[in-house]
Amino acid sequence: MKKIRINQNITLILLVFILSFTFTPLHAFGEKIEDPYGERQYLFEKMESLFGIPWYYLAAIDQYERSIAKVRKDIPVKEGLIAIYIPPSKWTGFLNPNPNDVEPKSIQFFNGMGLDGNGDGLADPKNDLDVLFTMTQYLSSYGFKEEDIRIALWEYYKREKTVEQISQFAKIYQKFDTIFLTKQSFPISKGLQYSYRSTWGDARGWGGRRMHEGTDIFASYGTPVKSVCYGYVEVMGWNIYGGWRVGIRGLDNIYYYYAHLAGFEKSMRIGDIVEPGQIIGYVGSSGYGKPGTQGKFPPHLHFGMYIDNGRTEWAFDPYPYLRKWERQRK
Ligand SMILES: [Zn+2]
Repeated sequence: MKKIRINQNITLILLVFILSFTFTPLHAFGEKIEDPYGERQYLFEKMESLFGIPWYYLAAIDQYERSIAKVRKDIPVKEGLIAIYIPPSKWTGFLNPNPNDVEPKSIQFFNGMGLDGNGDGLADPKNDLDVLFTMTQYLSSYGFKEEDIRIALWEYYKREKTVEQISQFAKIYQKFDTIFLTKQSFPISKGLQYSYRSTWGDARGWGGRRMHEGTDIFASYGTPVKSVCYGYVEVMGWNIYGGWRVGIRGLDNIYYYYAHLAGFEKSMRIGDIVEPGQIIGYVGSSGYGKPGTQGKFPPHLHFGMYIDNGRTEWAFDPYPYLRKWERQRK
C-alpha cells in the first residue's frame, strides 16, 4: 500500500496539469451531456492512454455498477456520466470519522482510496473524474494484465460472480470496440410462424410443483432462435428441465435463458460474444429427463430473464420485453 501511495503522489502532480487541459471541452466541467456514450468512451480511452488500464475494463466496471444501481436501494442514483459508486468506507477510509471527507490528505491518512482526478484539490466521490481516476489508480496498483485486473476486482468486490460479469462485459466492449451496444431484438425472425402469450407464474407439472419463470414461444421444430442482445455465452448444455439450453449475459447484467432447443448453432461455444439477431440455436422440445429426452411437450422456445443485483439473482417476467422487441421490429 505504501509504495502505491508514493507513485500516486508523483502521478497526481502531473495529472492536475494534464487532466485540466484534456477534459476541458467535456461534461467534466458541468456542461449538459449530449452524447453520453461518446463522452464516456472518450473518458475511458483517455484514462487508458494516460495510465495503461484497457478502456474496456473501465467501461465494464462502469456498466456493471450502472446495472446494479438500477435494482439496489442502497446505491444512490448518480447523475453524471460515470455510474461507479465507491462507498464512503472505501472512499474516505474505513476508520475515517468523517464519511463525507473530501480532503485528499486526511483520506490518504485513513487509507481511503479517494483521489482528486480533476485537480480542484478535492477528492469528491460525486465527481466523475475523481471517481474514474480513483478506480483507474486502484486497478493499476495491481497491474495491467487480465489476471491482475481480475485480482483487483476480486479484492474490491469480494464476489467471484461479479468478477466474471465485469470480465464478460469487458470482452464484449473489446470485441465491438464501442460502448454503444443498446440494440435488442425479438428472438424469432419476422415472417416465421410463432405464437406466445403471458404465462408468467403459471403452475408447472413436471418435476414437482414449480412456477413458470418465463415465456413460451411456440414455433415449429427447427425455427431459428436468435440472441435478443449483445452478450456473452455463459452457459450451454443440458439441464433436466430446460433440455438443451443457452444462457447469455447481456450488458444490462440480465441473464437471458433459451431452453428446450433442438440443438445449438454449430459453431457457437461457451465464451463466445453474440449480437442481437445472431442465430444461437433452433426450436425443439428437449428436456424433462436425461440428456436427449424430447417430445414430451409441443416444440417451443422457453425464454427467461434473470437480473443480478451484485448479491443475488432472480427471475422476472420477460413478456413485456418480448412485446416491445416485437413491436420495434415492425
Ligand atoms: Zn416455458
